Amino acid sequence: MPFTANDPKRKTWLNTPAETDFPIQNIPFGVFLTRDDIITIGTRIGDYAIDLGALHQLGYFKDIDLTDDIFLQDTLNDFISDGRKTWRLVRNRISDIFLKDNPTLRDNLEHRSNILFDIEETEMQLPVNVGDYTDFYASKEHATNVGSLFRGPENALLPNWLHIPIGYHGRSSSIIPSGTPIRRPIGQSKPGDDGIPGFGPSKLLDFELEMAFITTDTNDLGKRVTIDEAEDYIFGLVLFNDWSARDIQAWEYVPLGPFLGKSFASTISTWIVTLDALEPFRIQGPKQDPTPLPYLQQGKNKNFDIKMQVAIQPENDVVTVVSNSNFKYMYWSMAQQLTHHTVNGCNVRSGDMMGSGTISGPTKDSYGSMLELSWRGQNPVYLKNGVERKFINDYDTVIMRAFGEKDGLRIGFGECSGKVLPAKE
Ligand code: CA
Repeated sequence: MPFTANDPKRKTWLNTPAETDFPIQNIPFGVFLTRDDIITIGTRIGDYAIDLGALHQLGYFKDIDLTDDIFLQDTLNDFISDGRKTWRLVRNRISDIFLKDNPTLRDNLEHRSNILFDIEETEMQLPVNVGDYTDFYASKEHATNVGSLFRGPENALLPNWLHIPIGYHGRSSSIIPSGTPIRRPIGQSKPGDDGIPGFGPSKLLDFELEMAFITTDTNDLGKRVTIDEAEDYIFGLVLFNDWSARDIQAWEYVPLGPFLGKSFASTISTWIVTLDALEPFRIQGPKQDPTPLPYLQQGKNKNFDIKMQVAIQPENDVVTVVSNSNFKYMYWSMAQQLTHHTVNGCNVRSGDMMGSGTISGPTKDSYGSMLELSWRGQNPVYLKNGVERKFINDYDTVIMRAFGEKDGLRIGFGECSGKVLPAKE
């Protein structure tokens, strides 16, 4: 089925800002609370939130095979379960409805008043009920940097890293939408000379710059997904800040891996940008040497050229960009991650979320965590107002953004932001 919605020549009758993340070629999916306090599934063009439940009730999708209440829900899980063919039909139809020369909705002011909301009047919700969340560790630069810090440069990459997309099972209950404040976590840290572990608010609170992909129902228990079909099961992506408490993590992670240093909060951007919308930004990933095992060998252009940025804003102060990275640096692709995830027969379901792992680039200004940017506190990062940061302070807001840009077309994710509040002792 063609992606007519991706046609870069398309223009909409809606007024959209010139530099928006959400042109008519994006058509992301999300869930929002309207000014009338109704939860609905919607999309966004420019600064308009569009109520898909209302569009469906008014008959705009009537020849597409959808249940009556598919958009009148508080999560996208059922819609995502409908599969890729339906996502494409709906996305193409939304694009047609808002096409400059299509008068059907454009000239129907009554319908417009039921369907269109100023984005400022809406309150974004979590777009999916995340059943299971898995976090990978797929940037070679990040794994090398962290390995160097903890084990020295000689042993930076462990022997399995170049053969396996390393991951762990995370915690889905604490995934929160952009704009939700987080509490500085409390926990144990490495003992001092007296052998007694430290206890209290984390002193080394960090962000991790990641993307996360959201799947449809992928495989039955005991079956597996082949690398060639893996992308068919990926609905879309969100920006993902995998908040991390480095002092809690350093003490607890041996031998079973991350636990409470990670599970206190992960912030996502609220509009799911479909994999289809990102097609124009496909690019070849890093060369994989040694060649992966056959079940992980993939075709060309499985990575995506998407600029990613992190900024820090202290309270009542200016915003400073502290990192510029790119999703294309990911060593193991999403297709490889999903294939590997199911190779043992583990079933993946609609609404599951897979974090990429921190995406660090090759240069010091492209590292995706404060741990790397400040080299574990040895090289403070200076903000615009002259103060330094080694990690994240109370009342700092961490703001992530990401977008692909090519031939004048920009497809973005909006914002993934969260403010840190002091620990509650
Ligand atoms: Ca992570």
